Amino acid sequence: MNVREDFPILDLTVNGKKLVYFDNAATTQRPLSVIEAVRKYDLEQNGNPHRGSHYLSIKATEVYEGTREKVKSFIGAKSSDEVIFTRNTTESINLVAYSYGMENLKAGDKIIITIAEHHSNLVPWQQVAKVTGSTLHYMYVDKEGRLPSSELDKIDADTKIVACTHMSNVLGTIMPVKAIIDRAHSVGAVAVIDGAQSVPHMKVSVTELDADFFAFSGHKLLSQLGIGVLYGKKELLKSMKPFLFGGDMIEYVHEQETSFNELPYKFEAGTQNVEGAASLSAAIDYINGLGFDKIAEQEMLLTEHALEGMKKLPYINIVGPRDLSERGAVISFTVEGVHPHDVATILDSYGIAVRAGHHCAQPLMRYLGIQASNRASFCFYNTIDEVDYFLGKLGEIRRWMG
Ligand code: PLP
Repeated sequence: MNVREDFPILDLTVNGKKLVYFDNAATTQRPLSVIEAVRKYDLEQNGNPHRGSHYLSIKATEVYEGTREKVKSFIGAKSSDEVIFTRNTTESINLVAYSYGMENLKAGDKIIITIAEHHSNLVPWQQVAKVTGSTLHYMYVDKEGRLPSSELDKIDADTKIVACTHMSNVLGTIMPVKAIIDRAHSVGAVAVIDGAQSVPHMKVSVTELDADFFAFSGHKLLSQLGIGVLYGKKELLKSMKPFLFGGDMIEYVHEQETSFNELPYKFEAGTQNVEGAASLSAAIDYINGLGFDKIAEQEMLLTEHALEGMKKLPYINIVGPRDLSERGAVISFTVEGVHPHDVATILDSYGIAVRAGHHCAQPLMRYLGIQASNRASFCFYNTIDEVDYFLGKLGEIRRWMG
């Protein structure tokens, strides 16, 4: 894929070596068109949106609302009123937890999530359970990190919320979210999907999935930090109380009472991240320009090459499905006898960026019986040569430790 020149940061020299950036599940790098869109916004369009009738306020409003329309099409929502801007996936899920979960659940109700959730889609539900007296239950993955369909039987008549990641940031597993959503609906529960790891890599249609809520972050999608999205079905969003209170989210304010703005503004209190919206808009254009077919093809090529190479290396344990068809472009692994932080530091000395730690999924790590792991995660701009370089250095790590 001929995209390297669009990402100048990939030419950096790190520790005297050419950067090999394999931490894309944490955050992706930005193409020049995204950097330019932000520059254009800062130089020509910056104003406070929705608040003025002057030129720059109107420009900022156009950028912000234009991005909302673009996101609507990108995720296949029916209406731009269903697209709420937030800071990130975490804030999107908190919005649902506070405005839906805290308000609608009661003692005796169940919340069901998977053991593979990122803390962002776990801790908020613990809090909802504690405050409302409802209980939190888990669907467990098998040894290879796949979710057995029998686990879905835990979704029963007492279940009011089912929350699940679309793709695990640790296991790489693509979860059967359509089946989970359908099962949730069959018992009258709402389904919340964490799309942080799926939206950057595959075509998602929230309408086809029939998700009630769907959350993702711009920064994992070639965009800036600090802009995220919550999709919610209109009837649900309409029925919910605001999450944050203050400017912009109001209709009329009296001394003791306030009526709230219509959707989507009811959920966007205060001045929003319009620069982030400019960035997200250009990122979506870039991805649409490449197309998900090409993106998936390249990312699967990289993942397959890395998986096959890693399987041949002694002392490397791969976490998650060994079969390519069940996973995305994320490979977690451990090196026997070497702490993941040492592995990451040694790889960094060769210019290779991988993640080390619990990946914000402590219950999953505990369930898998490992304290920490490394994670290499790919994006379409990575190359087979980079994977080969990584495999070569990975093979040498135990020698380093003596
Ligand atoms: N969910 C998953 C699956 C993730 O991988 C991440 C980030 O790594 C998040 C949620 C949280 O994203 P953010 O930190 O942008 O809110």
